[in-house]
Formats: sequence, C-alpha cells, structure tokens
Amino acid sequence: MKTSAPRAAMADEATLWISGHLAEKIRAHGAETYPHECCGALLGRDAGSGSEGAAREVLGLFPLINRRDDSPRNRFSVTAQDVLQADKAAQEQGLEVIGWYHSHPDHPARPSQYDREHAWPWYSYVIVSVHNGAPQEMTSWRLDDDREAFSPEGIEIRHRAAV
Ligand SMILES: [Zn+2]
Repeated sequence: MKTSAPRAAMADEATLWISGHLAEKIRAHGAETYPHECCGALLGRDAGSGSEGAAREVLGLFPLINRRDDSPRNRFSVTAQDVLQADKAAQEQGLEVIGWYHSHPDHPARPSQYDREHAWPWYSYVIVSVHNGAPQEMTSWRLDDDREAFSPEGIEIRHRAAV
C-alpha cells in the first residue's frame, strides 16, 4: 500500500551494490566476447524495498553463453534454461538471481527497444558499453511495472574484499 509520508529526494531511485571486483569481472567479460555481446546473471541478495541502505547487492556472477547466433552483436536473450541454471547456481550459494548483465559492443550503455521487450520487471539489468574492445560506461536499469520503460538504477561500488 502506498504511503503518503514525505520521502527524501532520490528515495525512489533504486540502487544496486556491487564490489569493485565483480564490476571488473563484468567489464572483462564484455571485453572478452567483443565484438559480440556477453551476458550473464547477477546473483545476490535483495532485502526488499523500504529498508535503508544496501537493499540489493550483487555477490556473484553466473556468465551465460549468448545463444543468439543470428545477431550476437546486438541482441542477447536469456532462455528458460538459462534462468533454471542461474537459479540453481544462486541457490547453491545461498543467493538469488537479482538481475542480468550484458554488453553493448560499440553502443552506449542504454537499453535498446529489444532489451525492453525481452526484460522482466523487478530484475536489475546491468549494461556495459564496450568500444573497440575496451569496456567503458556501466549502467543499471529496472523495467517499470507496466513494462513501458526502464528506469535508471544507481550502481554503488562497495570497496571491500570480494565475497
Ligand atoms: Zn542490450
């Protein structure tokens, strides 16, 4: 139920926490598969909305194979089998699948229409832009509940030893 209590500025903006180590692994995966897209699952914990601080944090990655052979440069798709395998990997680590990452070779780190049409609400979608093989900007997005648009999600790098 909606509350009418006043909220601090930016309170609506979701935040995704990730260690510098894992952020670097996503970037490296994007460089490795260039000029094709990389993709994978984000494993972690989500404490739910309404709690203060790090509600959602990436604690592991599950790299996937980009199965699109018709257009691997600009379209990634997550299959039902991928979801099952990622869920299994997460459960084995006591985590859950909290989102998905992929790269945009030679394109900005903004979701495409294709991305929106193939995304699900709730999950975090991390996109890393890779230009000429070098990883650039990394962004994160959440699909609005009506699936009409993505909203940006802040990425906070947690500086501590990797879990
Ligand atoms: Zn994309």
